[in-house]
Amino acid sequence: MPSQKFETLIVGQGLAGSLLAFRLIRAGQNVLVIDNDLHRSATRVAAGIINPITGHRWNLTDRFFDYLPVAKTVYTELGEALAYDFMQPTEQIRLVKNAGQADYMQRRLRESGYASIITPLETQQIQNQGFGCANISQTYRVDAQQLLKRIQQWLLAQDSLIKEPFDYDSLAATNQAGFTYKTYAFNSIVFCEGIQAQANPWLSTLPFKPAKGSILDIQLHAPLKPMLNWGQWILPTDGGYAKLGSTYEWNELSDIVLERSQQQLIDNAKKFTNIEFSVVNHRVGIRPSTRQRSPFVGELSSLNNAFCLNGLGSKGCLLAPYYVEQLAQLMIRKKPVATELSQWL
Ligand SMILES: Cc1cc2nc3c(=O)[nH]c(=O)nc-3n(C[C@H](O)[C@H](O)[C@H](O)COP(=O)(O)OP(=O)(O)OC[C@H]3O[C@@H](n4cnc5c(N)ncnc54)[C@H](O)[C@@H]3O)c2cc1C
Repeated sequence: MPSQKFETLIVGQGLAGSLLAFRLIRAGQNVLVIDNDLHRSATRVAAGIINPITGHRWNLTDRFFDYLPVAKTVYTELGEALAYDFMQPTEQIRLVKNAGQADYMQRRLRESGYASIITPLETQQIQNQGFGCANISQTYRVDAQQLLKRIQQWLLAQDSLIKEPFDYDSLAATNQAGFTYKTYAFNSIVFCEGIQAQANPWLSTLPFKPAKGSILDIQLHAPLKPMLNWGQWILPTDGGYAKLGSTYEWNELSDIVLERSQQQLIDNAKKFTNIEFSVVNHRVGIRPSTRQRSPFVGELSSLNNAFCLNGLGSKGCLLAPYYVEQLAQLMIRKKPVATELSQWL
C-alpha cells in the first residue's frame, strides 16, 4: 500500500520541472519531484541569456513580447521567495560580422519594433572587422544554476524532492484515475525530463531535434562589462570570469567534451574580438530542441492525468515561465493549451 499521497508528481527538476513545482506548490498543491541529477542536463550548463535579437538576419525572437513580461514576473516572485536576484538586465553589444549583416541591421532599423531595441554604436574598442556594432537593449541573464540549486534546497526542506532515476516500469495507473509509484500515490504526473524524455515509453516518439552545446568558462585578462555577441558570445560573470559559448552539434550527442568545439569557440572569439582570456573549464549539455521549434506542452493522449512540459530548445529561460503558466492553468483550471503545443502528445 502506498504510504504517501501527493496531488502531483513531477519527473525532472531542470528549469521546467523546477518552475512548475514552484508554481503548483504556490497554488496550494502537495507536490513530489523526482530527479536523477544528470550532469549534462541543459539547465546545468545554460548561460541563461534572454536575447531579443537572434540569428544571422537579426530577427526579433518569436513572441518575445508575450514571453518577456511573464518571465519578469515569475523570476521576480521566485527571487522574493528564495532571496536571490535570478534575472538581471545585461548590457549587450552585437558585432556586425560582415556586409550582409550590416545590411540586415539597417533594414531592421527601418522596421517597427526594432528601433527601440537596436541602437548602432559609433566607436568601440573591440575588433569588429569594420562593419560596426550595436547596442541591443532588453537583454537579460537568468542564473539558471542558482535557480536549480535554490529550488532544490527549497524542495528538500519540505520533503518534496527525491534524488533518484525515475523507473517508468514502476508507474501504475489506479482505478481512481490516479497513479502509484513505489510507495507513493498521486493524482497527476508531469514529465519534464528534457532530452531524457526519449527514454520515456509514453514520449519516445516526440519529434525532438537534440542539439549538443559547449560552453567554456574563461578567465578574462582585462575587465569587460558588456556581453559581446557575434553569433557566439562572451558573457562576463563575476570576479573577472566570463562564459564563452556556444556551439551547436546535431550528430554527436554523447556527453564527451569535444576538442574541436573548444577550438571553434576560441578561434571565433579571436577572429571577432580583441578579448584576451584563458580557458578554465569546458562543459557540455544537450538542448531539448524540437523539429517544429515549438515546445511540447499539454496532457498525454495515451495516459489519463499525465502531462508533459518539454522541448524548450535553446531559449528555455525566456519560454519556460510562459509555458509553465499555460500548463498550470490546464492542470488547475482545465484551461486548454494551444493545439499546436499538444499535437504530438
Ligand atoms: C550549451 C547550452 C547553452 C544554453 N544556453 C541557453 C541560454 O543562454 N539561454 C536560454 O534561455 N537557454 C539556454 N539553453 C537551453 C536551456 O538550457 C533549456 O531550454 C532548458 O534548460 C531546458 O530545461 P528542461 O527542464 O526542459 O530540461 P533539463 O534542464 O535537461 O532538465 C531535465 C531534468 O530531468 C532530469 N531527468 C531526466 N530523466 C529523468 C529520469 N528518468 N528520472 C529522474 N530525473 C530525470 C534530469 O536529471 C534533469 O535534471 C542552453 C542549453 C545548452 C545545452
